[in-house]
Amino acid sequence: MDVITLLVAVLVNALLMSLALAVGVGIRARSGLQAWQFMLLGQAAGFGLLIAAKQTLPVLLATLGVMVLSASASAMTLTVCRFLGQPVPRRWLCVVPLTLGAAHWAALPDQPLATVVTNLTISLQILWASGLLLRGAGQVRWRWLCGVAAAANALLMLGRAVLAWGWPEAYPRFTAPHPLNLTHLMLLNASLVLGTMGFLLAHRDAAEQALVRLASLDTLTGLLNRREWMSRAGRALGVAGGAADDATVLMMLDLDHFKQINDQRGHPAGDEVLKLTGEVLRGELRASDLVGRYGGEEFCLLLRHSDPDAFGRLDMRLHQTLRRRCEASLGFAVDFSAGVVRVQPGEALAAAIARADDQLYRAKHAGRGRTCSDDGVL
Ligand code: GH3
Ligand code: MG
Ligand code: MG
Repeated sequence: MDVITLLVAVLVNALLMSLALAVGVGIRARSGLQAWQFMLLGQAAGFGLLIAAKQTLPVLLATLGVMVLSASASAMTLTVCRFLGQPVPRRWLCVVPLTLGAAHWAALPDQPLATVVTNLTISLQILWASGLLLRGAGQVRWRWLCGVAAAANALLMLGRAVLAWGWPEAYPRFTAPHPLNLTHLMLLNASLVLGTMGFLLAHRDAAEQALVRLASLDTLTGLLNRREWMSRAGRALGVAGGAADDATVLMMLDLDHFKQINDQRGHPAGDEVLKLTGEVLRGELRASDLVGRYGGEEFCLLLRHSDPDAFGRLDMRLHQTLRRRCEASLGFAVDFSAGVVRVQPGEALAAAIARADDQLYRAKHAGRGRTCSDDGVL
């Protein structure tokens, strides 16, 4: 096994995987996979240039090859930032390959020095990406797969830089059949495969999360949709499990004269009111409270550990804040009517909703803009 054969294997491998990703996922994939395709193409092009530099224009092609490999390492950091949802340090990603190109060109008369500069820079770039991966939050499987593969690769490059710096005679150049070069290229091949697998897993996880979000959230208000709210509220009451948890309160609220808003000010204004209502509910409720859009302009709230005083204050804040926010943003006030009940121990969710709906009906008939209860919540 010689270095050039392994280099060709890396080149072919990177090209094939990039092609496979383009065919399988498309070249316009919005996630980091697109950046990973650039990273693979960069590996293929960079090593292609290094191989070509053996035949002709050695200084120019080798410098270009090193720049492209560094740009490919930048594409790896870009991939990682996209998948982790972190800000992309664009300037660094561009400046490092350009600076490395200049430094390589300047250092080249001294081959070991050029090897040190190149390996040190690219290994630090890859270590940066792998550090982001290993420290990132969220799904662990793919982060570790990609992070460990990249770190191993970077450490071998670092080893090459150290050898070229400390023992330039024993380690003449990166195409020499040195065991470190052979090991590095085999590991590079493996890490490209593992990285591709890891980022494909990341892509699948992101798609799955997006689907779960789509299936459980109301797109207009960002609140839980009816199905998800019912399922979570049912589970919450099930966990209370018939214990005498009489501090759980269910509130149904319905915007007043909403049809009139749509008719007089247009559907988009109605949509804005719904969005503002979602914001007000999210802003005023605690993380442990469950709020969802139950229907058109109806919302359901399940509040845990709510004593009458606290609920009275919350109810007042909701009415006031919604009126104020609509007045400030849209130029007209909107209010709601609501029915609220204390969920009885062991009571089914549907039964509690039906009782809250009766109270809501009472509130509408009593003149709207108020909250009714007949079991002492208020
Ligand atoms: P009340 O005070 O008795 O509750 O009267 P209302 O006009 O609020 O109630 P009604 O049930 O007559 O009207 C509800 C309206 O909500 C009818 C429907 O077109 C509208 N609506 C439902 N979903 C949406 C939505 O997503 N956007 C907008 N803009 N309107 C919606
Ligand atoms: Mg209604
Ligand atoms: Mg209404």
